[in-house]
Amino acid sequence: MIFEVLTLFPAMFTSPMEESIIGRAIRQQLLDLRVHNLRDWAQGKHLQTDDTPYGGGDGMVMKPEPVGRAVAALKDKSPHSRVLLLTPQGQPFNQGHAVRLAAEDGLIFLCGRYEGFDERIRQSMVDEEFSLGDFVLTGGELPAMVMIDAIARHLPGVLGNAASAGSDSFADGLLEYPQYTRPADYQGQKVPEVLLSGDHARIACWRREQQLLRTLERRPELLDTAELSAQDRQIVERLRAERIKI
Ligand code: SAM
Repeated sequence: MIFEVLTLFPAMFTSPMEESIIGRAIRQQLLDLRVHNLRDWAQGKHLQTDDTPYGGGDGMVMKPEPVGRAVAALKDKSPHSRVLLLTPQGQPFNQGHAVRLAAEDGLIFLCGRYEGFDERIRQSMVDEEFSLGDFVLTGGELPAMVMIDAIARHLPGVLGNAASAGSDSFADGLLEYPQYTRPADYQGQKVPEVLLSGDHARIACWRREQQLLRTLERRPELLDTAELSAQDRQIVERLRAERIKI
């Protein structure tokens, strides 16, 4: 899978994308990350990529021509790539998007700066717009890296056994159960006895209940959309009743 990034600050990607799981995946050619400097498609003496807003106001707006030429050049080589624009006005990015986008042939990320993109870029060159949340960052580079990381985890071979996506939060619509490692007693805080029991069926039951409890406590709205078995629903009802008693 090819991840292409259009940015005015390509150096931002160097270290974060060289380390750990993503860095290894790139070195093993499980994914191909190509970071392009948008200025390479700028023209004129000053290689201008932004300009003042029509109608007045503060800040600079990213011009359509360099982005248009860059997207055309990248799409020429990878016609099936999807063009994704980073903006606080986009749909909030989530795990479902990460899984879906991991099945694409290629993705092109457009990273904005300053006041963001000229509206015509959004209208004519973009397949989807994504936000990382209801806050405003200085640029789209960090959101692009976050999305690349989240998507790449779902590509075959990227995660080894040490880090599996299967039981992660959101994999089945719920938050993950609490995790423990050695020591069994840390300053008087003991690991739940069931996890030391070696009884895999009991451990699986405990973990499922903990997933449901944790989701109920922290993100109850997720229970409305998660696929729950009849037994899960019974557990949720019991947990709700217990919470009301408390
Ligand atoms: N004026 C824009 C607005 O109010 O919608 C915000 C522009 S922001 C300062 C500059 C760039 O950072 C955006 O074009 C976008 O690429 C990126 N950005 C900022 N916050 C973001 C967020 N929450 N999610 C995704 N991208 C974001």
